[in-house]
Amino acid sequence: MRTRTTRIWAGTKEKRKMLREGEIPRRTGSAAPALSALLAAFALCAAFALCAVPLLTPPAAFGAPSSNAKDDKKVAPKNDKKPDAKPDSKAGAKVAKSAAGGAKRATLAAATVNLNLTLARWGAKREFVRDKETVRWRYRSFTIEARKDKAYLDIHGLRVFISAPVREKHGSYFITRSDYDDTLAPLFYPAATAKTAARRVRRVLLDPGHGGKMPGTENKALGLEEKTLTLDTAKRVKTLLEKKGIIVSLTRETDTHLELAERAALAKVRGADLFVSIHYNSGPASADGVETYVLTPVGQYSTNDARRAAAGALTSVESGHKQNTWNLVLAYNLQTHLVKKLGANDRGVRRARFGMLKDPACPAALVECGFISNTAEGKKIATGEHREKIAQAIVAGITAYKGVIDGVLDAAERRAHRGTAAPRKP
Ligand SMILES: [Zn+2]
Repeated sequence: MRTRTTRIWAGTKEKRKMLREGEIPRRTGSAAPALSALLAAFALCAAFALCAVPLLTPPAAFGAPSSNAKDDKKVAPKNDKKPDAKPDSKAGAKVAKSAAGGAKRATLAAATVNLNLTLARWGAKREFVRDKETVRWRYRSFTIEARKDKAYLDIHGLRVFISAPVREKHGSYFITRSDYDDTLAPLFYPAATAKTAARRVRRVLLDPGHGGKMPGTENKALGLEEKTLTLDTAKRVKTLLEKKGIIVSLTRETDTHLELAERAALAKVRGADLFVSIHYNSGPASADGVETYVLTPVGQYSTNDARRAAAGALTSVESGHKQNTWNLVLAYNLQTHLVKKLGANDRGVRRARFGMLKDPACPAALVECGFISNTAEGKKIATGEHREKIAQAIVAGITAYKGVIDGVLDAAERRAHRGTAAPRKP
């Protein structure tokens, strides 16, 4: 009894089995037909409404298409019209609660979400993939790819790290409940998963990493110093954003030292709607590419230190956690445009408990714009031309994020005007 955790689908046992095997990836039959039809009509109306506005206003995280998208001219998912996409773990959670003691198995079930079932409920279609370890779904015009035993998902071609590896059992793929709640669902259902209201992007605070006595990483052979490069890049971003009518300030305008918490605190002082910390990376000589960090959710491991993370740090609650959805939306769009514009190696959207990400009073992300320790990439970064491209990519990311926020808020205003309900949880 405790082994089954997916009671939400009101279908027969046989249908559930087919779903598990990916044979019927759509909500049909048993889901209340009237409701389905109503939803379909509603979605159609919404699609029409969205077609009339610029494409950069979908209520999903994806403010703009990623480079490898062939069909992203389509309107993005209108997620907030999906009332029955509930995680599979609900039933499991109930079991775990009621059968206290000896319910190790139920606890495990409660902590996982079956991607096959959940994405089928979203209306995603499973696609054939030659590689047996990989599974891919198409949801509207986006792809979601999971790979057995790997702690990441490839969301429309962009790597997004999760806390625990994807597990596979009898053809079903599972991620943890917290990875579903804190990463997958927010990217597709930002309006429904956000813990704080979206705020329109009017003021941006840029944080040039390091400074003063803290030079950051260095490449002596190339004469590169991180603190100088970050300040130069931030100033370029500022110039470009101001041309778009956004009010921009920097945590430091000169070569001065600032503690990480001070940088975050400035977000409130300056009334920022958005905080982006700019850095350059170092690592093994061969490492190259770009990565974007956001605050690790409570109870999760950070991407780079799964083994070293202290238990206390795992559970400490930071005010930045309330921004999780918007942090992720911001990071996804920044990383998308950095990868696309620079043609750089995609090292993914990652999680870390960096001091400046813990409690700025607005959504925050940290971009690592390339490895100065890598000779080839370092030589590029040394040129103003390349740093200008980096600045343009960051601006494109912020603009795409702004588009998502505007889309979410505009949709909310339309709903309020019509008196319709708020989006339900995925
Ligand atoms: Zn740095």
